[in-house]
Amino acid sequence: MQLIGDISVTRVVESEGSFAPIDFLLPGITSELLQANRWLRPAFVDDANNVVMSFHSYVLRTPRHTILVDSCVGNEKERPLRPQWHRQRFDFLDRLARAGVKPEEIDFVFCTHMHADHVGWNTRLRDGNWVPTLPGARYLFARREYEYWERMHREALAKGEAVPNHGSFADSVLPVMEAGQAVLVESDHEIEDGVHLEAAYGHTPGACLLHARNRNQHGIFAGDVMHTPVQLADPGLSSRFCSDPLQSARTRLALCERYADTATMVFTGHFPLPNAARLVRTGTAFGLHN
Ligand SMILES: [Zn+2]
Repeated sequence: MQLIGDISVTRVVESEGSFAPIDFLLPGITSELLQANRWLRPAFVDDANNVVMSFHSYVLRTPRHTILVDSCVGNEKERPLRPQWHRQRFDFLDRLARAGVKPEEIDFVFCTHMHADHVGWNTRLRDGNWVPTLPGARYLFARREYEYWERMHREALAKGEAVPNHGSFADSVLPVMEAGQAVLVESDHEIEDGVHLEAAYGHTPGACLLHARNRNQHGIFAGDVMHTPVQLADPGLSSRFCSDPLQSARTRLALCERYADTATMVFTGHFPLPNAARLVRTGTAFGLHN
């Protein structure tokens, strides 16, 4: 558990390990960059050149609310094109319980964006239907993000094409809308004093990050503004999953410029330990504070 003033932050891991070749995730990467940044091995890039990633949620307990940030891949989802996510039986809810969090205690769920690995536990399968996993939560979806994926989903259905994001809009977002638990919010929405969203467009068209401030301490929950510390060594490297790679790079560079050599803790969407860190400048690029 980590603290941002009086706000406690618990990472709940769904899975972690080698994910895919680093040059699959980051098509622009060069071997020179990896050679010049040996600190990335083996924690973040393994000996077989795979990127090491974690899929996790964050539970924030503020003095007023319990907030779940991002909801991983989920169980029983049909993801045949991504075997690691297909019809899974993760013990995520047990891990949540071991972290002392009951699903009914969650007041808000905030998904930084709507890729399949950030919305999965929004729902679970009950008697053949997808129902909200967090029964008392309001699910905060950035309006811009929701409307983009709603249109992509609808257009794909109309054309008879494969729906986007492995079908996660249909099984992990729409059921929350239909249950009346979703709230579409603007990209600067304030959840409570000191806890608010900010636009972080690029990885997806409506991606947002979350700020948490308490007692002069500050953390940001950056989602997929970066996937791996390799992108600190070269913030220009966008992932193959970025809908606008140039905008994604601008957003990432701006975040690094703004928070490097400050006290702000950056809680990332996919770094293995240290999943949260302060950023430092390293000459022409950035790194993790030791
Ligand atoms: Zn992700």
